[in-house]
Amino acid sequence: MVMTERNIRVRFAPSPTGYPHIGNIRTALFNWLFARHTGGVFVVRIEDTDQTRKVKGAEDTILDSLEWLELHWDEGPRKGGQYGPYCQSERLDLYTKHVHQLLESGSAYKCYCSPERLAQMRDEMARRKESMRSYDRHCRNLTSEEQAQYESQGITPIIRFKMPLEGETTFHDVIRGDITFDNSELDDIVLLKSDGYPTYHLANVVDDHFMDISHVMRADEWLSSTPRHVLMYKAFDWEPPLFAHLPMILGHDKSKLSKRHGATSIVEYKEQGYLPDAMVNFLALLGWSLDDKTELFTREELIKHFSVERISKTPAVFDRDKLDWIDGFYIRNIVITPPPAAIALNAHGPDVSITPTYTEFARKLLEYWKDYPPGFTIPSEEYLLEVAPLIYERIKAFKDVEANFSFLFVSEIEYDTGLLPGKKLTRENAIAGLEAALEKLTDIQFDTEPLEGVLRGLASELGLKTGDFFSLLRVATTGRTAAPPLFQTMAVLGKEMCLARMRKALAKLGNNT
Ligand code: GLU
Repeated sequence: MVMTERNIRVRFAPSPTGYPHIGNIRTALFNWLFARHTGGVFVVRIEDTDQTRKVKGAEDTILDSLEWLELHWDEGPRKGGQYGPYCQSERLDLYTKHVHQLLESGSAYKCYCSPERLAQMRDEMARRKESMRSYDRHCRNLTSEEQAQYESQGITPIIRFKMPLEGETTFHDVIRGDITFDNSELDDIVLLKSDGYPTYHLANVVDDHFMDISHVMRADEWLSSTPRHVLMYKAFDWEPPLFAHLPMILGHDKSKLSKRHGATSIVEYKEQGYLPDAMVNFLALLGWSLDDKTELFTREELIKHFSVERISKTPAVFDRDKLDWIDGFYIRNIVITPPPAAIALNAHGPDVSITPTYTEFARKLLEYWKDYPPGFTIPSEEYLLEVAPLIYERIKAFKDVEANFSFLFVSEIEYDTGLLPGKKLTRENAIAGLEAALEKLTDIQFDTEPLEGVLRGLASELGLKTGDFFSLLRVATTGRTAAPPLFQTMAVLGKEMCLARMRKALAKLGNNT
């Protein structure tokens, strides 16, 4: 990236108008990575000038999400800093003062048009099939007498920027290169609204200037605002920051990522128990890459390698399967002790020669359940350590533990219709199999090896294929057709629980006459 003489200061400037979505957080992450990579400062600023769209609680949710992902900011809300306050509604005087500066220099003007007149104007434009403008510049050249007349009617004006009527505005986008707009395409945008609040444009430019922001890295939907901002910087006689517009994020069907594509709010991923490090790894790849093959990065590696030059110009595609794969990898990594200092680039999984320990896995899962309690009683850490080996390689996120393994945590399981006797065995065979198993298992030690020995022997005694017989036992003891290795599972569940479940399955088979 072209470096300026300025110290690097970047900002994430969310509007508290709803839950932070994947795209917002990707913007935050890229700014954070850029600041950490360059030794710069990462600022968070709350852009809450649109009072009508403000959503209660949204600011906290945004900040909590950043904290969850450990994207800690150097200056901003909850923290302060020498350029504060960091919430625009607390900086109104600054905007008013500067909009007056533009009025005085002739770069802005007062507009007295009522919302009704503006609506009528747009209707007429549409009727005449004129290209749509938000404003026809009716008040741009009012005489002072005309202005005085409006004022005497008690009309509070809004303030608009006087866009140049001709010529071009070119700016350099660090990702996309030089971009030129025709000034004639730019409207006389509103700077100060009738409620005394600035618009996004005014507050954004004033704050980026006074917060000494060196690089504005933001979503590409703001690209068309940038020539307007550049002209405002010029009118103020301020040096603009460098701009970098991040590529759009698309869903799997190549349309802009939206609610239709499933979870787009970062909060949903937290609720589903994705790990912050995995999320950060995944989000970093939405528009940035080191090369065409490396997909796994620790934070340290991301910070080390991140560069704006490697941000793509073309849209990124949100691939949920990839997120699941990455999160699954990070979950498996938790059980490796000591944790690897860094995930080796291109590592494909934990080294099998390393003895896994499950304490950290159990701790993290319990922490997750504290915030998002499952539908069963939270087990003891001791029990979790016992079942962890059965679970950790078979989940993509912590929510899967409840979805796929509740049979390990509840006493009563239900059997879906059709699972007993299943497709492979007749009802008679299944009944005979379970009765024989109940008898044989009553007196044996419930450990993996004896269970396997006894049950294999029993399958051949009964003349059943081991696969079919074991499937029956799997369904009887877990209620599921897919579960971790049968004998280990039965050993963990214990004799009492397994026998009780087998009796219940038997009763169900008996009742199905
Ligand atoms: N408040 C704007 C948003 O929520 C920020 C745009 C910018 O970074 O300039 O996207």
